[in-house]
Amino acid sequence: MRDYYIAGNWKMHLTRREAADLAGALVKGLKGGKHRYLVAPGFTLLETVAPIVKGSGIRLGAQNAAAEEQGAHTGEVSVLQLKDLGVETVILGHSERRHTYLEDDGLINRKVKLALKHGFEVILCVGELLEERQAGRAETVCESQTVKGLEGVNAADLDRVVIAYEPVWAIGTGKTATPEDANAMHGWIRRVIGKLYGSAPAEGIIIQYGGSVKPENAAQLMAGEHIDGALVGGASLKAETFLPIARFG
Ligand code: PEP
Repeated sequence: MRDYYIAGNWKMHLTRREAADLAGALVKGLKGGKHRYLVAPGFTLLETVAPIVKGSGIRLGAQNAAAEEQGAHTGEVSVLQLKDLGVETVILGHSERRHTYLEDDGLINRKVKLALKHGFEVILCVGELLEERQAGRAETVCESQTVKGLEGVNAADLDRVVIAYEPVWAIGTGKTATPEDANAMHGWIRRVIGKLYGSAPAEGIIIQYGGSVKPENAAQLMAGEHIDGALVGGASLKAETFLPIARFG
């Protein structure tokens, strides 16, 4: 039986004061909660949020990390620096990284391997563009991103990998995949993991759905057999909208 895992991606929002207030409200609101939880504040907020969520059961995540450990990489943030702040999880391959900042599968794969080497949990995001779905290519795109993102990752490390299926056309748009379509894609990704690692890892891996998850649609999405939680963007910025999602069920 897989745990439900609800993650909030705060993207490039909030000041330290706002982040502290939100983190405090989440700690209070999720006390005794029955699922797994994570918040991923922007880099400048991590040091503020870390002591607030520490010991609460809410994991601290980062939204990206460099593919190198350290060195001359202006503007990048290293896994070593993230570890120093108490970060346990890194979101990699988010569609905004892929499509706005042109990160390709090779770069994302290097980041995944480096983060795993340093003991992080990785949330690897995959998802198709609208034109890819319309052209009937959604499955092959997600398969390719999954296979390439995990190239060279051994079965022992797969325990620390979560996949987030995030159809790009549903992110921040208010459009959501139907629960049936989302569940079908999750099942497809699980079969891809099965081909790579075998049936037990495929059964065990957590696959989150992301794309305009809201309090009104969360339970319906999560009822899908293969949907094990959510990666939430916009609705994670307010306790009033994140808590009902995180407390579903
Ligand atoms: C995301 O950023 O990962 C996301 C799913 O955003 P939203 O919930 O706003 O669509």
